[in-house]
Amino acid sequence: MDAIIYVAIFLTGIVFGSFFTLAVYRIPRKENIVYGRSHCTSCNHKLGFWDLIPILSYIFLGGKCRYCGEKIRIRYLLLEIFSGFVFLAIALTHGIENIVNLCFIYLFIAGMFIIAGIDKEKYEIPNGLCIYELFVAIFHLLYSYYTKSFDYRYTVYALIVPLIFYILDKLFSVLYKDENKVPIGYGDIKYLALIGLMFGFPIQITSIVISTFVTLVGILIHRYKEIPWGYYLTIATIMVLIIEPYIANTLNFIII
Ligand SMILES: [Zn+2]
Repeated sequence: MDAIIYVAIFLTGIVFGSFFTLAVYRIPRKENIVYGRSHCTSCNHKLGFWDLIPILSYIFLGGKCRYCGEKIRIRYLLLEIFSGFVFLAIALTHGIENIVNLCFIYLFIAGMFIIAGIDKEKYEIPNGLCIYELFVAIFHLLYSYYTKSFDYRYTVYALIVPLIFYILDKLFSVLYKDENKVPIGYGDIKYLALIGLMFGFPIQITSIVISTFVTLVGILIHRYKEIPWGYYLTIATIMVLIIEPYIANTLNFIII
């Protein structure tokens, strides 16, 4: 029975993955992410049911658009498989006993994937996505309060670092008299606060530390005009989430 649940989680991750690519494409273009048929980005032909099955369509179409023959970027396929594995990895390390909590994590991660994709391409974190994440985080807090696993320190401490960043940003923008000269974007600060609200202070602070290493690697590989920190923060947070059960004792040590 457990095996079936794990397979279902893996497939859910893959389906979410194909939704992420759609959302990353449509949200910055202000297109509706729920309605409206997907179309080929090259020839604009509307895609049918058989063109939209995650992974399988890509394989059977030979990685090309059925209508114009334009190559479909392999990264779409890789992202689908990758998100399937992320969903599966979290289920494997956290266990599936607390399936409600797991669902909250997946709902939040879904937003994180889309935020990461948009931040990497457009250097911005859309407000709508922040509001979505805020709702998931609040309902998750209510759930943990209801199940008596709530610890106010996890939430209160999680606001400290975003607050410090916010004050530093304000100081910088006053010093340079330029809103664009702030070291960290306001979108990134909001996102960081949301991660803290959702996962608590220990995971948040560990993710910040790891994200600095991930960002350094990213800067060495890419040449950015601006650093999409939200993107690297997402990678770091997902890494921490996957190994969280193994470092739980160390993480709790952070809370005094
Ligand atoms: Zn086409």
